[in-house]
Parts: sequence; C-alpha cells; structure tokens
Amino acid sequence: MSIEVKNINKRFGQFTALDNVSLDFPTGELVALLGPSGCGKTTLLRIIAGLEQPDDGNVEFHGEDATHVHVRQRQVGFVFQHYALFRHMTVFDNVAFGLTVRPKDKRPGKAEIRNRVHELLKLVQLDWLADRYPDQLSGGQRQRIALARALAVEPKVLLLDEPFGALDAKVRKDLRRWLRRLHDDLHITSIFVTHDQEEAMEVADRIVVLNKGRIEQIGSPDEVYNNPASPFVYDFIGQVNQFHSRVQRGQAKIGDYSVPAPEFADVDDSAAITYIRPHDIELQALPGSSDLIETYVDNVSTAGAVLRIELKHSLSDNLIHVELPRSQERHLDLTRGAKVYARPTATKTFLTAE
Ligand code: ATP
Repeated sequence: MSIEVKNINKRFGQFTALDNVSLDFPTGELVALLGPSGCGKTTLLRIIAGLEQPDDGNVEFHGEDATHVHVRQRQVGFVFQHYALFRHMTVFDNVAFGLTVRPKDKRPGKAEIRNRVHELLKLVQLDWLADRYPDQLSGGQRQRIALARALAVEPKVLLLDEPFGALDAKVRKDLRRWLRRLHDDLHITSIFVTHDQEEAMEVADRIVVLNKGRIEQIGSPDEVYNNPASPFVYDFIGQVNQFHSRVQRGQAKIGDYSVPAPEFADVDDSAAITYIRPHDIELQALPGSSDLIETYVDNVSTAGAVLRIELKHSLSDNLIHVELPRSQERHLDLTRGAKVYARPTATKTFLTAE
C-alpha cells in the first residue's frame, strides 16, 4: 500500500515538531526516516500510524484520505525500540495475540492460528522458541518476535521506531541485514525510524533526512551520501572534512589553496564552507605538482582493509582525515611527523551567510 503525507504541521504548545512535511512512500519500499534526536521522526511515524493527529495536512493510504481513520482500521503493524511483548505470555501467545483478539466473526479458528503463528516464527527463524517467555529471550530475539507479532495481522504497512536501538552493535548489524532480507521477501511498505546514518544507509531503499521538523533531502542511500543537498546532510551522513573558504568566480579558496566550485562561476566573493570526504583525498610522497597540500602525519589507524590517517597542515587548525586502502601503505612514509602531499579528488562547496 502506498502512503502519502501532505503538508503536515504538528505543534506541541509553542514548539513546531513538523513544519509542512510532504512526502510519498511508494508501495513495497523500505524507507528510513533519519535525523538527530528531536527532529520529528517519531511524531511523523505516529501520525502515519494514527496514534497522533496532525494540526494541518493529510495522510493518504492508497490515494484515500486516512487522516481521521482510527489506528485499528489502518492495517498497520508496529515495532518499537522497547519490546512491547507481554511478559506473562509465551512467545507463541504473543505472536497469536493480534489474531485471538479479533471480533468473533473475523477470528481464525484455533488450527489456523496455530499454523499461522508457526509460519511467522519460521519466517523470523525462531520457531524453536515458541514455548519460552520474553524474559528467557535475548534482546535481538525479542525484537524478532515483536516483528512476527506485528506481521501476524497481515498489515499493509509496517512501522518500525528505532527497533534495534536498544541492542548492542553486533546484534544490531545482524538484525539490519536480516530485516533487509525479510523485507525483500515480503515487500510490505515499511517505514523505519533511526538516528543512525549507517543503519539507514544499509537497510533502506530511500532515506528521508529530517532536521528540525523539515525535510532536508529525500534520496537513495547513494544519492544522500554522494550528493548531499545541504550542509546539514553533509555533516550528518558520514565523516567529512570541513574548511572555511571564500568563493571567487568558480573557485573556493581555502587559505592559499584553491579547489574548483564551478556552480559558483558568477559569484564574486562570498564566504563558504568546503567539504571533502576522507576517501576523496589522494596522498603522495613527493611534491609533483602545484595542486598539492603539504601535510604532516599526526596519527594512523587501521579498520579492516582501510587506513585512517590524520594529517596536520597549515590551512586550518583541524586535522585532515583521510581514508585509503591498506594497499597504499607501502608507497608512503606514514610515521608520525613524516611529510606527505594531499590532493582532494572531489569537493563540495556551500555558500554561507557572511
Ligand atoms: P528521538 O530520536 O529522540 O526519538 P525524534 O526525531 O523521534 O527524536 P520526536 O519524538 O518526533 O523526535 O519529537 C520531536 C519534538 O517534539 C521533540 O522536541 C519533542 O520533545 C517534541 N514532542 C514530541 N512529543 C511531544 C508531546 N507529546 N508533547 C510535547 N512535545 C513533544
């Protein structure tokens, strides 16, 4: 089922939590709502769920206005950060719950419920835990059971609010991949709230970046990472080097150093910030040409196949962060204090207010 939200405003007293938010969720997509704490992600999810009413604007499900449709009639399934399993019920009864509380005329028979619950437990690969109680499960297992329970009522939409937020890093990583695979099998329109950009990049078909109740950018993980629409998105998604610069006719000057900024060919003189990703910098041992920044190695660490290098330089007080494949190590002297020459291979400049 597709979902459209149109011109949603939501205030809590004087505070604007959502400011004229409009977006589409196409059928079958897995969309991440990403942004820092307090940016309005949960509020938007709750409005889509019908747990909260907008002050203005509409929510449409499959082209029909659902703004005032009761949460129970919306055919949505939820999974929250803090597992909402019933502690006094077994895993089986938790998953069966949504089916057993249906009105009598819509309630499946006992045998059908049993089959359906076992199917769902197999889907989340926890069939063997049917008789356990929530206290006897790991955090990751509980979240998978919570998902099975949400799916039991065959929702048309799945809403997940930081579902892995309370789990440790390794379990989170495993569950992200697992959720992605599950979604590929089921193709239920799913909206996933997270403040973790890595999680959004890994799981989502599309990412909606929110900041202070407004949409900063909507795009695929690649688009959002490689072509951030604003300084906020640049900062928020992935590590980045930032330099104060001045734009003058298509060039951004960082101190004496210049990088191209062709989109500002007509700008005479303006303050700006230039962003350079750590993997968009090449290093070389010798000063071959003039477009090189002279730097000194300050620190080197390795993360798997990647070398992370921090460099001192005269352009600003901040270290330059560089990421290289480990295979480059042998071409360079990376002892502390050694001189190396850096060249940005891609940069992005945004004008700022003076
Ligand atoms: P987090 O990642 O911390 O959960 P979020 O992006 O999901 O943040 P929301 O929970 O949507 O943020 O909240 C957005 C803003 O609205 C916050 O500043 C929050 O304090 C405020 N807010 C949310 N619910 C209420 C409420 N019921 N009453 C008053 N203010 C609220």
